[in-house]
Amino acid sequence: MSQVYSSLNPSEILRQKRDGQELSAEQWKQFIQDYTSSKIADYQMSALLMAGFINGLSSKETAALTDAMLYSGDVLDFGDTPTIDKHSTGGVGDKTSFILAPLASACGVHVPMMAGRGLGHTGGTIDKIESIKGFKVDLPLDEFKKQVIEEKLCLIGQTSQIAPADKKIYALRDVTATVESIPFITASIMSKKLAEGASGIVMDVKTGNGAFMAKKSDAKALAKSLIKTAKRFDKKMLAFITDMSQPLGTHIGNSLEMIESIETLKNKGPKDLTQLSLKLAGAMIFLAGKAKTKESGTKKAKKVLESGAALEEFRKLIKLQGGDVAVIDDYSKFPLATHKTIVKASKTGQVHSFKTRAIGLHCVELGGGRKISSDSIDHAVGLVVHKKIGDKVKEGENLVTIYHHKKQQSLAEQIAKSLTENDILIKKSVSKIPELVWEVLS
Ligand code: URA
Repeated sequence: MSQVYSSLNPSEILRQKRDGQELSAEQWKQFIQDYTSSKIADYQMSALLMAGFINGLSSKETAALTDAMLYSGDVLDFGDTPTIDKHSTGGVGDKTSFILAPLASACGVHVPMMAGRGLGHTGGTIDKIESIKGFKVDLPLDEFKKQVIEEKLCLIGQTSQIAPADKKIYALRDVTATVESIPFITASIMSKKLAEGASGIVMDVKTGNGAFMAKKSDAKALAKSLIKTAKRFDKKMLAFITDMSQPLGTHIGNSLEMIESIETLKNKGPKDLTQLSLKLAGAMIFLAGKAKTKESGTKKAKKVLESGAALEEFRKLIKLQGGDVAVIDDYSKFPLATHKTIVKASKTGQVHSFKTRAIGLHCVELGGGRKISSDSIDHAVGLVVHKKIGDKVKEGENLVTIYHHKKQQSLAEQIAKSLTENDILIKKSVSKIPELVWEVLS
């Protein structure tokens, strides 16, 4: 007897994925199309995400999901102009985009940067840049394209035109505990990077206890999955596996991270953040054909950092997108909480390790991230971590400053307790300092 029910029926698709079967490209396409146009409800998409998270996706399914998400909207084409973007898989205090994009554009690279909002315990580039009053992240695509071609640099959030499926699914994954999946991260990142028209992409795949891929082997598998997808579309990609076993730089929280980024563009930033930004920018400069190797790209990036040219690029970007440029010289223009709770070291020794994810979650708890997708972001709150792994510390010395509102005093005290008792481990001596960059894959 022939089959009378449709294999494209959403509950049939859910049943198959729940039972560990491989879905066809047609099934992925239909489900994603119908979800994007709101014919399929959030609860059905959530069920598919959880079934896919638990049972995994084959590489054929990952490709089908990526394609379905990519073609859910427009696909930009910059023609012969090499356009290079960078994307991070997400971490705590990860703010390199604000530094490396101006570094690369000051070296002549066209950077079409389409970034995301916070996800889980990690902050988002778009939430952070919105700490700058007036900065428009929702430019129409024709303006985005024009600005990239004429001014070399544009930073926007996801629009309903570019990979709209990812915009909806990303927000849903954030609140359904379905983020840490190699197929989903691959489809999410690659659908928007391919749609924004970048001819080359530098990936920063984070590993360590503050990353979605805590284990190096998983980070490497994710990097390989991203590279495989880039190759399928004939795009150049370099994937850096970088450390996220402690916050990057020292500032965590939206306004705080913008301030640290501007300090770094003034060449007064912390060593790890400066070095990683220079290395990633060097790779972008190399992929754009503006340097023979990524190392010589890094040298070029260093020059524009030291000359102040990259800072001027950032000033230009803020102005072009309607933001208040005064923030560059006057940090009081950022919304920043006035109450501070200082966390002191409970003993003398060396900083051994951080529970980095917990630190990101403290920022979310203060209001710096979202717990449900409709939450608004508080740009004013966050934490500054004064010590890095391997730093010597004396009992009673300042370890962390928590920026919060007056009404959050008891929450700040609970966070302070967690930081001293659980999240920052101090030992007599430390033998291993994590590498900043573990590996680069291509
Ligand atoms: N960044 C993205 O754009 N998507 C993910 O799923 C994770 C990090």
